[in-house]
Amino acid sequence: MVTKSALVCGAGGFIGSHLVKRLKREGFWVRGVDLKYPLFAETEADDFAIGDLRDQSFCRQIIDRRFDEVYQLAADMGGAGYIFTGEHDADVMHNSATINLNVLDACQKRNVAGLFYSSSACMYPEYNQKDPDNPNCAEDSAYPAAPDSEYGWEKLFSERLYLAYNRNYAMRNRVARYHNIFGPEGTWTGGKEKAPAAVCRKVAQAVSGSEVEIWGDGTQTRSFLYIDECLEGTIRLTRSDFQGPVNVGSDEMVTINQLVDIVADIAGKKLAKKHIPGPLGVRGRNSDNRLIQSKLGWRPSASLRAGLEKTYDWVERQVRNNQRPAG
Ligand code: NAD
Repeated sequence: MVTKSALVCGAGGFIGSHLVKRLKREGFWVRGVDLKYPLFAETEADDFAIGDLRDQSFCRQIIDRRFDEVYQLAADMGGAGYIFTGEHDADVMHNSATINLNVLDACQKRNVAGLFYSSSACMYPEYNQKDPDNPNCAEDSAYPAAPDSEYGWEKLFSERLYLAYNRNYAMRNRVARYHNIFGPEGTWTGGKEKAPAAVCRKVAQAVSGSEVEIWGDGTQTRSFLYIDECLEGTIRLTRSDFQGPVNVGSDEMVTINQLVDIVADIAGKKLAKKHIPGPLGVRGRNSDNRLIQSKLGWRPSASLRAGLEKTYDWVERQVRNNQRPAG
């Protein structure tokens, strides 16, 4: 049997490092590429190239064969504290767009059949996400475009880039719009962490009876998708005949206050909430899963609580290990 090959760009990141493990379990030969190795576990990639995908010649060097599958997950990204402050806008747009332009073009020149591209729910228009109880994130609500961040605008540009290569170069690129992916071995501190990991850390650090700080009034809504289901959706889309864009997200919408309550309950702690000013993003967001169900015959179904239990367990261990005195 011929071993299939896969390239994972962004293999040192959260989703990419998990994807490498999944592809290895499936028997692929995997090359990972990133600026850095995964932070929390050894990579399982057969080959791992450290380098900068903004560099065109580096892209051509590592895309040296007709990989059976290519996953383009590399991006300059972070949680609300990174994306919504405005301080990183130029870097976010320039870095991520350059990566996509280079990787896609190098793949096309090597006759790679198609790539998987991870867009984001951040590309949806802000005007459809003002009511926290009733956000509209159906795929066909994307236009007229009005993302609330430059990160979202870059995603929209790159989605269109991948689909343009499908039309003009007969490629089979696939585009997913991820909605808040979480799980163990993700950034949990330092400013780039996202809400589930940040809440798990705050709860793990808090003494029962004390309070945890939350950005905003906590009534903003979101849904969160556990990493295993994200990978399942990613792989199903990549191997399907549907190009997307399609949401890969959970439709179990909660307020941030509810998210804190679930995590506190998992931890067995009684905690009060202190609402403080902070970067927020849209008022409400939820995945609309009708299209993925109709095109792939599958949709994410695991409960938020089940994913948070595994994530809290992991974050709590990081907090404990970090507190241990050196030596
Ligand atoms: P991540 O930040 O953990 O991983 C991205 C990786 O890209 C990082 O390891 C980073 O070092 C690498 N990278 C950045 N610039 C690079 C460069 N110039 N050259 C090489 N590597 C570079 O992010 P993630 O959560 O794993 O997200 C993966 C993808 O999914 C991203 O495109 C992101 O925009 C998208 N996405 C993620 C979420 C989420 O909730 N995690 C939601 C929507 C979309």
